[in-house]
Amino acid sequence: MAIRGSCLCGSVTLEVDRVIGPMEYCHCNRCRKVSGCGALLTVVVRTADYRLLTGREYLQAYDAPILYRPPAFRVTFCKQCGTTMPEAEPNGSTLEIPAGLFDSDIGIKPDKHIYVELKAPWDAIQDALPQLTIREVVKLRTGEELPPDFKLRRHAIPVANQ
Ligand SMILES: [Zn+2]
Ligand SMILES: [Zn+2]
Repeated sequence: MAIRGSCLCGSVTLEVDRVIGPMEYCHCNRCRKVSGCGALLTVVVRTADYRLLTGREYLQAYDAPILYRPPAFRVTFCKQCGTTMPEAEPNGSTLEIPAGLFDSDIGIKPDKHIYVELKAPWDAIQDALPQLTIREVVKLRTGEELPPDFKLRRHAIPVANQ
């Protein structure tokens, strides 16, 4: 049976046949802004298993400036209620869906924390899940090692009154 998800106002609804994972807490400072919390928890589904049911006209995307390499960090949200949503037109074979959108159990649990060196100073991870750094995440996803002189670039933080 399909698993349904929705935004806060209910204008945008979606369903997936199944989730495959991984299911990760990203602690990077962009995901923290998107979630408004210490981390954004997302789950991976196959694009072929995903359907946007209603509210496509409410979806709006924002591309943050590129920090490392394309593609940009893209946030899609409901224009009416601000809920973070998956992309309207996912172009890869999989997509990430914010786990909080689902209205019933998705059958899996979070498996790790990522970008942990960017976590907020007040954030204390309380569980025993693996904690991966950006180097470990890149290695896991692409098999590549980041160059030794790789510099971690944080999302730009505006400086007031300059
Ligand atoms: Zn909404
Ligand atoms: Zn992130």
